[in-house]
Amino acid sequence: MLTVKRSMSVSDAKLKLVEWYRQNKRALPWRENRDPYRIWISETMLQQTTTTAVIPFFERFVGRFPDLNTLAQAPVNAVVEAWAGLGYYSRARNLHKSAQALYAKGGFPKTFEELITFPGFGPYTSRSVASLAFDQAVGVVDGNVIRVLSRFEGQAWEWWKSKARDEVQTHADQWVRGLSSYEMNQALMELGRTICTPKSPSCLLCPIREQCVAWREDRVANLPLPKPRRTRELWLWNPSVEIKKGRILIQKNTHAPFLRGQWLLPGTAERLKSKPKSYHYKHSITHHDIFVTVKNSLPKMSEAVTKWVQLKEIRQHVPASLVQKALAQALATPALDGAADADGGVLVQRKTTAPSTGSRRRGHCGKRNSPR
Ligand code: SF4
Repeated sequence: MLTVKRSMSVSDAKLKLVEWYRQNKRALPWRENRDPYRIWISETMLQQTTTTAVIPFFERFVGRFPDLNTLAQAPVNAVVEAWAGLGYYSRARNLHKSAQALYAKGGFPKTFEELITFPGFGPYTSRSVASLAFDQAVGVVDGNVIRVLSRFEGQAWEWWKSKARDEVQTHADQWVRGLSSYEMNQALMELGRTICTPKSPSCLLCPIREQCVAWREDRVANLPLPKPRRTRELWLWNPSVEIKKGRILIQKNTHAPFLRGQWLLPGTAERLKSKPKSYHYKHSITHHDIFVTVKNSLPKMSEAVTKWVQLKEIRQHVPASLVQKALAQALATPALDGAADADGGVLVQRKTTAPSTGSRRRGHCGKRNSPR
């Protein structure tokens, strides 16, 4: 009897939520139509940061690559450059790879089962595109949805574990059944972003408050469970800036755990036990706190992992903000620009200002995928 009652109240909540969404949805550039390309780009970007932060990146990106064809034909470096500032550059490379594969196959398939076979299409992106562009009845689970469902169902899911994640997915799939998946998924996400927020949710404004278990049992502040924190690692990175005839030396990163496999400035990395006394700046990437001091001397390294690129194209090859900051640091000494010109092609090692006690600027990483 109780199960029947609960299922009736969930059906009622679903209708109320969709109605609320129709009246309150925000006008966002990727909601202007159901173009799978725009949905794909926006959902990939939204895995990196907040909706507000994504809007200018999205508009710039689709202004430069307005459709699948343009993206597929573009050089990969141009795509990575347009991604600069969003971090996780492997996503930009995968976008490009996927665009080429999708274009070769004649466009976007309409189901998440097919979409997930393309590089860079994980469960989240595949379901988003299948649901938002083609209305496939699949739930889209992001941090907002986990938070809303965990509270609404009163479930203390350990959502970072795959078994619990499957359970959340099952609930999300049930929510979109029998209604427009396009509307319901966005309604759940929108509620999480605007009303059922991580801190101080506006329960009094919530359209599904009456059916919400956490609200009724006064457990809102305790749900969802917080993910256990991963220990932060401290790292020292000593890059150097080498310029010759307008070209700059870069090194494939096979030595540091952050930005692994990407091109960086030549340098060394070392794990630290404690924060160093002096450094030029600190940058954080995922669980790595990186203390950077730009050096004047090149480390020993194999030529196989280095290459020279045009200085003016450095952003295309090395877009990571960690490196851009190191470059800015090294090039901030005006006398050195003259030294490079006068040098006429001789290897110039950029001098650097003395390390200070370090700035407090944080890295780019403001992912919105966590429900807490
Ligand atoms: S009542 Fe509060 S906790 Fe429950 S879904 Fe609404 S905003 Fe979230």
